[in-house]
Amino acid sequence: MDDLLSRTRAAVWHPCTQMKQLEAVPPLAVARGEGAWLIDTDGRRYLDAISSWWVNLFGHCNPRINAAIADQLGKIEHVMLAGATHAPVVELSERLGKLTGLGHAFYGSDGASATEIALKMSAHYWRNHGHPEKNGFVSLQNGYHGETVGALSVTDIPLFKATYEPLLRPTVRVPTPDARLAESGESAEAYALRCADALEAHLAEHAATTAAFIIEPLVQGAAGMAMYHPVYLARARELCDRYGVHLIADEIAVGFGRTGTLFAFEQAFLPSPSGRGAGGEDAVGEGTAGAGGGNGSRRFREIPPEAIEFARKLRHEQTDAESRLWHLLRDRRLGGHKFRRQHPMPPYTLDFYCDEAGLVVELDGGQHAESARDARRDAWLAQQGLRVLRFWNDQVLQETESVLSVIWAALHDGARPHPQPLSARPHPRPLSPGERGENAQAGFRPDFICLSKGLTGGYLPLSAVLTTDAVYEAFYGDATARGFLHSHSYTGNPLACRAALAVLDIFEHDNVIAANRVKAIEFTRILDEVAAHRRVRHFRHLGMIWAFDVADAQPGFATRFHRAALAQGVFIRPIGATVYAMPPYVVDADAMRTLADALLGCLADPAI
Ligand SMILES: *Cc1c(COP(=O)(O)O)cnc(C)c1O
Repeated sequence: MDDLLSRTRAAVWHPCTQMKQLEAVPPLAVARGEGAWLIDTDGRRYLDAISSWWVNLFGHCNPRINAAIADQLGKIEHVMLAGATHAPVVELSERLGKLTGLGHAFYGSDGASATEIALKMSAHYWRNHGHPEKNGFVSLQNGYHGETVGALSVTDIPLFKATYEPLLRPTVRVPTPDARLAESGESAEAYALRCADALEAHLAEHAATTAAFIIEPLVQGAAGMAMYHPVYLARARELCDRYGVHLIADEIAVGFGRTGTLFAFEQAFLPSPSGRGAGGEDAVGEGTAGAGGGNGSRRFREIPPEAIEFARKLRHEQTDAESRLWHLLRDRRLGGHKFRRQHPMPPYTLDFYCDEAGLVVELDGGQHAESARDARRDAWLAQQGLRVLRFWNDQVLQETESVLSVIWAALHDGARPHPQPLSARPHPRPLSPGERGENAQAGFRPDFICLSKGLTGGYLPLSAVLTTDAVYEAFYGDATARGFLHSHSYTGNPLACRAALAVLDIFEHDNVIAANRVKAIEFTRILDEVAAHRRVRHFRHLGMIWAFDVADAQPGFATRFHRAALAQGVFIRPIGATVYAMPPYVVDADAMRTLADALLGCLADPAI
């Protein structure tokens, strides 16, 4: 082992490391991996509590991913993707397209290259539409999007950025909705809305020279697992629509189930129009923001105004119906049954949920393509033992009493009620294909999603940028230069694509998102004592991420904590004063107890 350490110091320039410190803090010499564990050259085991820099999902040496790669090795290891194609990259693109709703996949090798691709594609899109001046980028304060020169321009971590400032393109930072920065007495949601106002103020003035807003949805990882309220995403989507700016979701860290849904962006929801600060005593996600009238909006040039109007109307109806029903459910009490609104039940968010009755009430806006998804969703809810009632928005608005009586009956007679299924009713207003396209665009979907890290389960470098038909079509034409002439040698590597396909198979076959939900509850309980520790501030949890700040951390805290935890069999690397765990999903309760004990041990040592 000592031999390996001196050789690594001599020959390997380690990432994100002051090499001189390697003398004092030798790297862990890893010989093997097994599930959530790393095994060093002396045979000692360490829990990989941060999934090898957030990439690993299903453990080291996962037999299913190993088998997929081995199978591919016997076929073709790599072929260039310009002028050639292969089944793994086609299948992966199709599947990612279905999962994200963004049907065009461009590949790179790392997260940072995905950021570069999204930025270039966005600016090039506007150029192809005759707006070369729309080439600026907006990003969040404390955001992280990678460290190549373009990606670093939209990153805002001074330690990584300041030195290279002269090389970078100036970009605009808007305030982070990081819930820790809320004023005392201000909710995370109210603070997120306040930050969204700052974004709006910027876009209102600078949209004409702005190509895109890039954001890490729900969690700013490198900022120290800063978490924020999902209403910010919904508002960002609205504002980007209104001002004609692309929204780039950098899901490199949060994609693939980290936040409790396959993609974090799925958790965006529209706030109710009931007015900022309206109290929702007992309800999760009681909305507070104005839904934002569409006045003065600038529009994507290629979208017909009627389609925009239609999408807006649909959204407003949805909002009206939702808040109408919400007030009725609260006011009438329906025999004392309490409903929660926008109740998160990953992978879904339920419109209305009554816990004691196991009843879900969902509203539908008549959104075409949703029916297959609804069926999947209803089947999943039924599997959880929940009953689902669905109503159209305009039923709620126009036949309110009968809707309430169906809900009342469902709550009281226990027998399964049979409201007329949606499929048996005439569709309130069939959509034309043009409307369908626009509606999808206006929905809570980013214009670009960047994926990497978990994409291959932590096996091989691969990244993907997925985008809309509208973006794709802007590049399609006879002129070569109108196309996206970007490439990396290993674009769409078949081995990496096979690893990614195996990862998607595991998600599907093992129902990972639902299983994680149950695990996360247990794991959070295991960390209760840590959360309650007197040195711990802002203990936070989302999906498979747990984080807290240490109140009295002194300079050098992260290194001391790392070393002390290592001595207790846990590989963890705090960011500044923030300690976080982001374990592979295969971690079990025993391993989480090892983690909790190590964390408590470190916290108990006043010298750390
Ligand atoms: C890690 C990360 C990147 C960069 O990915 P690399 O593969 O390290 O280049 C970009 N964005 C986010 C949000 C990340 O967490």
